[in-house]
Amino acid sequence: MAKNLKKLECDPSCGFMARSHDENELIKIGLEHAKGFHKELKITEKDLKSMIKAA
Ligand SMILES: [Zn+2]
Repeated sequence: MAKNLKKLECDPSCGFMARSHDENELIKIGLEHAKGFHKELKITEKDLKSMIKAA
């Protein structure tokens, strides 16, 4: 059974995008990205969940 592919897109001005079947993995990737590139924004897991969409 195929899982739905999901994507996490950052702000267009940033251009970061990740795809995975695993939402938890995307959140992990997103937290790493936020830590490295958006220290001032304090992006939380909840924020990331709202940024994840069907790919
Ligand atoms: Zn970004």
